[in-house]
Amino acid sequence: MYFASDNTSGMPAQVLDALGQANDGYAPGYGADALMDGVRARIRAVFEAPEAEVFLVTTGTAANALALATLCPPWGAIYGHSLAHIAVDECGAPEFFTAGAKLVAVAGENGKITPEALGEVLAQAGRGVVHHVQPGALSLTNLTECGTRYSPDEIAALSARAHAHGLPVHLDGARFANALVAEGCTPAQMTWRAGVDALSLGGTKNGLMGVEAVVLFDPARAKGWELQLRRKRAGHLWSKHRYLSAQMGAWLEDDLWLDLARRANAMAARLESALAGRAELLFPRGGNMLFARWPRGQHRSLQAAGAQYYLWPDGQNLEGPETEEVSARLVCSWNTTEAHISQFLAAMGQA
Ligand SMILES: *Cc1c(COP(=O)(O)O)cnc(C)c1O
Repeated sequence: MYFASDNTSGMPAQVLDALGQANDGYAPGYGADALMDGVRARIRAVFEAPEAEVFLVTTGTAANALALATLCPPWGAIYGHSLAHIAVDECGAPEFFTAGAKLVAVAGENGKITPEALGEVLAQAGRGVVHHVQPGALSLTNLTECGTRYSPDEIAALSARAHAHGLPVHLDGARFANALVAEGCTPAQMTWRAGVDALSLGGTKNGLMGVEAVVLFDPARAKGWELQLRRKRAGHLWSKHRYLSAQMGAWLEDDLWLDLARRANAMAARLESALAGRAELLFPRGGNMLFARWPRGQHRSLQAAGAQYYLWPDGQNLEGPETEEVSARLVCSWNTTEAHISQFLAAMGQA
C-alpha cells in the first residue's frame, strides 16, 4: 500500500534493459553520447519544436532552479503559487541558483493561479522603482501540488498575462505526463503553443531512476549555452551521461512515458471511486494524486496495517479524537496495483 509518492516505485523493465545496453562498451561523456542525440531528436519531434534545446539533470529541484536562473535576473521576482514546490520544497535552491531572485506568492484555489490574481500581483510589482525586485518570471506547475490540472487554455491565459509584462514562463512538469494524458492534448499544446518558454520535464516520478529534462523552447532567447554553463557549475553535468540518456530514451520510445502515466492515472481514478462515500475529496483530481479526509480512527487502522501515505498538509497527526477528520495525500504510480487499492480499502474498513 505505497501511496506516499510516485517516487517510491522502481523502473519498468524497458528502462532497466536500456541501462544494461548502455553499459556495454564505451561512449563519450558529458552529454556527447549518441543516445543523447536520440533523446534530443525525440523530444524535439514529440514537442513539435525542432529548435528546442534539451538538457538532462538528475533532480527536479535542479531542473527548476537552473531553468529559472536562465530566465530570471538576481533582482527579479518569480511569481508562483503559494504552495509551489519551488517555494515550499526546494530548500531555497531557486533563490540560490538565481543568485537571489525573490519568490512572490500568488494565491489561488486548488493549487492554481488565476490570470486575475496574477494581474493583481503584477499591478503592485513596482516596476521601475529601484527599491523593488523587478518582475522576472512566472512559474506554473502541472499537475499542481494539489493534484489538480491546468488546461492548455488556462496556461495560455496566464502566459499571455506574463508575456504582456515581459515575463518568460516556466512550467514545473514533475508530473507533466500525468497532466498531458489526462488532458488528452499534445505536448506542444500544453507548452510552447500555450506560451511556455521553459519546461522541467519530470521522469523520476514516472518510471525513471533519476532523470529530468530542461527543455528550452524559445531559440531566440538563445539561453542554451548559459544553461549548460549553469548546469556544470551546479555540479549537475553528468560525466557518464549515457546512463541518463539511456533512461530517457527508453522512456520516450513507443510512448512508454505516456503509458506509464496512464496507468498511474487509472489507478488514482479507481482509488477515487472506491473512496467515494467513505472519504471527502479536497480537490478535483487532475491525474495520479488524491487529497481526501476521513476519520482519524481509520487512519490509525490503515497505518497499523502498513499503509504508506502522508497526512496533508504537514503538521497534522494521529493524536486526538477517533472521529475527527484528518486529511491525507495519496499518490498512485505506474506500478500501483489493484491489490494495493483493495488492501487499502479493507484496512480502512476495519476501523
Ligand atoms: C517531486 C517534485 C519536483 C522534483 O523534486 P526533486 O525531489 O528535486 O526531484 C518538482 N516539482 C514538483 C511539483 C514535485 O512534485
